[in-house]
Amino acid sequence: MNVYDSARMQDVLAPLGYAPTERAEDADMVILNTCHIRENASEKVFSELGRLRPLKQARPGMIFAVAGCVAQAEGPEIVARAPFVDIVMGPQTYHRLPEMVARAARAAGAVIETEFPAESKFDHLPDSAAPAISAFLTIQEGCDKFCSFCVVPYTRGAEASRPMAAVLAEARQLVAGGAREIVLLGQNVNAWHGDAGGLGRLVRELAEIPDLLRIRYTTSHPRDMDDDLIAAHRDVPALVPFLHLPVQSGSDRVLAAMNRGHTADHYRRLVDRLRAARRDLALSTDIIAGHPGETEADHQATLALIRDIGFAQAFSFKYSPRPGTPAAAARQIAEVEKDRRLAEIQGLLRDQQHVFNRACAGKMVKVLFTGPGRHPGQVAGRSPWLQPVHMTGPASLIGTETTVRIAEGHPNSLAAEPLPQTEELACA
Ligand code: SAH
Ligand code: SF4
Repeated sequence: MNVYDSARMQDVLAPLGYAPTERAEDADMVILNTCHIRENASEKVFSELGRLRPLKQARPGMIFAVAGCVAQAEGPEIVARAPFVDIVMGPQTYHRLPEMVARAARAAGAVIETEFPAESKFDHLPDSAAPAISAFLTIQEGCDKFCSFCVVPYTRGAEASRPMAAVLAEARQLVAGGAREIVLLGQNVNAWHGDAGGLGRLVRELAEIPDLLRIRYTTSHPRDMDDDLIAAHRDVPALVPFLHLPVQSGSDRVLAAMNRGHTADHYRRLVDRLRAARRDLALSTDIIAGHPGETEADHQATLALIRDIGFAQAFSFKYSPRPGTPAAAARQIAEVEKDRRLAEIQGLLRDQQHVFNRACAGKMVKVLFTGPGRHPGQVAGRSPWLQPVHMTGPASLIGTETTVRIAEGHPNSLAAEPLPQTEELACA
């Protein structure tokens, strides 16, 4: 979502004459768009500010801004630790950037905007200038679920859905600008609801847009996976057969302590229903190792759930205590124990990902090519299951969804080769 927000900040600033640069040294303004979800993400902000400080000393006219969830959670603390910062703005206020830039030029101290404004930023953002072939589109923000470990309800605010008409208009504009895949974003994207239904309905409406080849959504919560959305996986070919569905733990005791509102078996049954709806569906998930109270038996239950489901991809993290959350106040698991559990989880998940990738070898797969590959003469893209794919091929493939043959499944990517041009040979 920060990638989407950063692109929108560029759109807001473009009329003022700002354009992106590759290096902070070349910039008139530097914006750090930050994440507060885990401690090391947060701490990175302060080390990055330390690294950038000499630039400001050399050119006092440069503007430094900190945006995103660290700004939201630690506004005054940022200014105290890094007094050269000119603007601190939460994730709901960046549509006011032009005004903040003007105020920063006049103000003696930092401009801090971290309240949740009454107006929606989405109503005040201009159209996106140059959408990517796989473009993000935020449709839902915030969270009311208050999991024990998580800062999102505090930093992103209450759950809110953008209206269907606004989402469809932005999607049409992205596709007109060249996007061929839209990734719908939300902290709880499947909690999205419009006047006439939920995410399943929105997906069906989006699938009507000509030239929109693929639809994805992330991140979804198991509790919000309703019947209509499951049916959309069966009915809508453009909805990719891949779903990121975080489970966090395989132990009912830990899931209850986390306030997740479902059991491990609920998750298993949900996955069965999704796979029944779409036979080739592959899953990805998030796992937390070492939440307070997690015993060895709970950890084993997580490993068992991972084995039962078989994930194509996953993200796993060591539990990180976050200020102001209930789990941070509980008795903590020793760091070395968290490390050991995380290593076991990651070993298993890595093996599952490699097995999934290897199983693709020899298969025909539709790839959406999104740009040049790392080596000259190569193109790169994604399979429907989000695997990075690279192939020797012409740049004219970029922006197309093309069926290719997977030559090899590597641990983190697939190598492909073009299909033989059989029809052309027949004509010749
Ligand atoms: N709304 C989504 C998750 C959004 S946060 C859901 O409920 O599933 C993204 C991921 O960060 C979470 O799934 C979780 O695995 C991880 N995460 C969040 N807070 C964390 C913390 N305090 N420590 C470690 N991982 C955390
Ligand atoms: Fe955080 Fe997701 Fe739980 Fe909301 S549902 S509190 S975003 S982990």
